[in-house]
Parts: sequence; structure tokens; C-alpha cells
Amino acid sequence: MKLTDRIKNCTLCPELASTRHNVVIGEGPIPCDILFLGEAPGEKEDESGRPFVGQSGKLQEALAASIGLKRGVDYHILNILKCRPPGNRDPMPEEVENCKKYLVEQIKKIKPKVVVAFGRFAQAFVLEIPASKVKVSARLGEVVDFMGTKAILTYHPSYVMRNHNPEVRTAFIRHLRKAKRTCAAQVVN
Ligand code: URA
Repeated sequence: MKLTDRIKNCTLCPELASTRHNVVIGEGPIPCDILFLGEAPGEKEDESGRPFVGQSGKLQEALAASIGLKRGVDYHILNILKCRPPGNRDPMPEEVENCKKYLVEQIKKIKPKVVVAFGRFAQAFVLEIPASKVKVSARLGEVVDFMGTKAILTYHPSYVMRNHNPEVRTAFIRHLRKAKRTCAAQVVN
């Protein structure tokens, strides 16, 4: 079965599979140099089957556009989990583990030159540590090796949206610019 069909039909997490309205696979070109990695679908994403279409998605899209990155063209965007956790609760470790094999396959197809890790769960994934051990603010803007490519650690757009400190938004944009530069600097052998 094709990867997208396997993801759509997945029932590994009984609670998520029985409460979801749509599986949210991801969106954007394949292959694609830049990959934005979020946490899990929220209500709007679950309704529509598309990632980052709610309020924080709109902000993410606008801030990326402000540095010349157009949704659907310049980046691929997807989540750690493909199904919405009920009530937007945090993903559970076993759910992350179940979804991991799909994500790894997706990343191998997308072949990004840089992954932008949004928030705690994406940071835990790229650093291969439990989410409970992540302190997002400690490693902001850091570029790390990840799956033979680079990843940059930044805030989750929903944190940027909720936080009224303008420095948070400025830093998020700075990290997106750094992702662009990191991508441009990759030498393809
Ligand atoms: N937050 C996420 O992490 N992903 C989405 O798709 C929407 C909100």
C-alpha cells in the first residue's frame, strides 16, 4: 500500500483513530528543500484534513511569507502526529512512537535540506529525547544534525501567537531566515 494510504487507514492509536474526522498527512512539494515540522492537528486541521490552517497556521504562513517563503511552493509542512489528540491534549509518547515510522518515511521522500522544528514535540523528535526533557527556550535557533541533514529549533507558531512579547515573533522570523541560509549553504554531493 502507498504511504499516504497507510497513513489514512492507520488505527495504531485507538483513541485517535476513533475520534478523528480526518487524517492530516502534510502539504507541500515532494521533494522540498525546507520542511516545517509541527506537533499535531488541531480542530481546524482535523475538520479540513490540512495542516496549519487554524489561527496559528495563518500566523506561521504570514511570517514565512514575510521572508519570501510561500506555502505550497517553498516548503513542505506536516506534523509529528497525523491525528488530532482529543481536546488538543499533548501527544502521548506511544502515539509519537506509532506515528514515527510514517514521519521518517515522509522525510525520506521529502529530502529536506533543512527541517524547522516548531516547539517541544518537534524538538524532542529531532533531538531524539523525550518531550518531557525538552526546554524549548534553552536551544532556540540552534542548528543540529538530523537524519543526514540539518534541523533548526524554534518556537511553535501557537506560542508565537499567544505571546505578546514582540521579541518572540522577531526571534521566530530570525530562525526562519537562518533556515533559509542553512538550506542555501548545503552542498549537494
Ligand atoms: N499546530 C500544529 O502543531 N499543527 C497543526 O497542523 C496546527 C496547529
